[in-house]
Amino acid sequence: MLLFTPGPTPTPEAIRVAMSVPTIHHRTPEFEEIFKVVKEKLIKLMDMPEVLMLSSSGTGAMEAAVTNLCKSHALTINAGKFGERFGKICKAFDIPYTELKYNWDTPAPVEDILNVIKNNPKIDTLCIQICESAGGLRHSVEDIAKAVKNLNKDIMIIADGITAVGVEKIDTTHIDALITGSQKAFMLPPGLAMIGLSQDAILKIESAPKGFYFNLASELKNQRKNTTAYTAATTLIIGLKAVLESIDDIGLDKFYADTKVRAQASNAALEALGLKIYPKTPALAMSTVYHERAKEIRAVAKKKYAVNIAGGQDDLKDKLFRINNMGLIPSYETAWALNAVELALDELDIRSYDGTANRVFVLRAFKGVQ
Ligand SMILES: *Cc1c(COP(=O)(O)O)cnc(C)c1O
Repeated sequence: MLLFTPGPTPTPEAIRVAMSVPTIHHRTPEFEEIFKVVKEKLIKLMDMPEVLMLSSSGTGAMEAAVTNLCKSHALTINAGKFGERFGKICKAFDIPYTELKYNWDTPAPVEDILNVIKNNPKIDTLCIQICESAGGLRHSVEDIAKAVKNLNKDIMIIADGITAVGVEKIDTTHIDALITGSQKAFMLPPGLAMIGLSQDAILKIESAPKGFYFNLASELKNQRKNTTAYTAATTLIIGLKAVLESIDDIGLDKFYADTKVRAQASNAALEALGLKIYPKTPALAMSTVYHERAKEIRAVAKKKYAVNIAGGQDDLKDKLFRINNMGLIPSYETAWALNAVELALDELDIRSYDGTANRVFVLRAFKGVQ
């Protein structure tokens, strides 16, 4: 079965092998050396002054960023499940927040955000997804962050990059907390979250340490010494070292370029089948299609053609399907996934099979045809 869900993504064999070593103790020079190498590579890849690794899924880093950086009032952007989650985190911690809500296919306009901030001087934090995975939507976070900082440089920008870091180069100039997790573009099993911090974020965190397990001041203190406040996710960090080394071998620019070609070729192939790409501004992380019979298409692709693609969530659970583009996916596997979709359309009498998806994808991804 090919795993084509936009998280978790498949772990390549070389990475699995790298993790199949005897467990080592986390408080040893041996592990601290591994930790240091990984941290330095992450700082470079994320382009942030400091990166912390946390033993949790991505949501843990979302919670940590909100509870450590928001001191008065948050503005959260809800254009899907994950944006909604920022609001739920605020609620759980009694942090006052204002939510801007959009359809799941619609990116947040800069002006809306600036208007809310102008009308509420208490807002000190903006929480937004770079890619909102619920609908495969790309928010223009870099432009939004720049405009917000222009208005008030003290507002902390928390960017959920769980399906954006490792997908494309992100301009972090105006971002204070950049969040990611192990099981999306980093191709690892779930359980490790990472959070890149700006100098301003570091100052804010250290001026008023907060929380216990997700106390980032205490993590900063420890991780600067290449250790963690509590037991590190040693096996995942060893795996991450192997992931980052394989990305280095390919070259980061090529890694991003390959993802982009695959994503654009997938979207073109799906559109050539007459399917509708759901988001108005598609992220590269996944190809997201709206179809009334999405649920049946997925079921046939899985049962008959051994391709596991994701559905939607909430109201769109049965109306969307999402095909992963993140990580080191061999393009011939994506070609088969798209073929499976076309075969499913045929089987469901939606469109007869003529090899269009494969032809369009292959010409773009392998032969550079635009
Ligand atoms: C997957 C995902 C998360 C949640 O991560 P967990 O690891 O499930 O906690 C948050 N935000 C986005 C955009 C995601 O894609």
